[in-house]
Amino acid sequence: MMDERARHVVVAGGAGFLGRHLVRALLAAGDRVTIVDSFVTGRRDGLARSNRLDVVEHDVIRPLPESLGPADLVYNLACPASPVQYQADPLHTWRSSVYGTDNLLAFARAAGARFVQASTSEVYGDPDISPQPESYPGRVNVAGPRACYDEGKRAAEALIHDMIRVHGLDARTARIFNTYGPGMRADDGRAVATFVGQALAGQPLSVFGDGRQTRSFCHVTDMVRGLVALGMRDGLGGLVVNLGSDDEISILDLARMVARIAGVELKIAPADLPVDDPKQRRPDLTRAREALGWAVTVPLADGLREMLASPKGHTAIRTRQAFALVPRSRGQ
Ligand code: NAD
Repeated sequence: MMDERARHVVVAGGAGFLGRHLVRALLAAGDRVTIVDSFVTGRRDGLARSNRLDVVEHDVIRPLPESLGPADLVYNLACPASPVQYQADPLHTWRSSVYGTDNLLAFARAAGARFVQASTSEVYGDPDISPQPESYPGRVNVAGPRACYDEGKRAAEALIHDMIRVHGLDARTARIFNTYGPGMRADDGRAVATFVGQALAGQPLSVFGDGRQTRSFCHVTDMVRGLVALGMRDGLGGLVVNLGSDDEISILDLARMVARIAGVELKIAPADLPVDDPKQRRPDLTRAREALGWAVTVPLADGLREMLASPKGHTAIRTRQAFALVPRSRGQ
């Protein structure tokens, strides 16, 4: 029997890496969920099964279908996140961010729904300060190959601020820093999934440049807990908040850690540093702590150990990761 009072949450991009974890958490919290996804990078296999879950195949660069009906909350995760994938069709990436956000905002406004945007640390570009607070305006190359993603996400954020000012929409924005965990595609070029896959296959680990560039890796369960809190709490309209780990590590040290935990000798396959690759990434998490009471709980070594212990490293999402991340209460 369906709970008549269940919230209806629309998750655009819900078939992707973060989306499928978020959908499981929402279902575990008792919500009714509709995934809207074009499957450009998302997968149909391994999606959660529930009589409270619907899946609608749709490209958000076009207006949302009326058949979606009323909604209480809209999450916008619909955009490829890995550089390999978002640069494969840069025009479509830009349209996904900008037209997609515009269409989802219009849907949320018509439905009277709350809106949560999955933005990115990439809005900071190649930053010249560290850590990066939300007030940092960014240092982005508008003409570079990453601009379709970085500038697309920046334009989407600008659009959200205007929708709040002009129409009073209740919208919140998470600037997500590098997130990893089970369910990542091995072929999408992101460092953790690539290293885990290579270590398990006994291959050398491909490190770009001298490997001294840094990132801060957040486990997906922590990220989803932050996204759920951002959507659930009242009084957060207009909030822009960094979500991620501030435990900064160089890519070379990440390779060393993966090899050590996998119990293999570290062999490096050097590769060219991609154009405009950011040299450092570390969020200032003061606002996340104060506004959401949010903090990272999973140490990187534990998350890597768990991925390396599963037979394919990263493809399966285990049931225990779909635990109820938040209490069922609303508006807390
Ligand atoms: P992903 O590529 O695994 O998932 C994106 C999902 O969106 C896929 O299911 C894809 O099919 C769908 N999609 C893409 N374009 C679409 C379109 N035009 N219409 C409908 N569906 C579309 O990426 P992810 O890692 O799950 O990231 C999800 C969101 O979080 C993205 O918006 C990304 O920018 C943001 N983000 C992720 C990270 C991270 O480390 N994973 C970091 C920063 C920001």
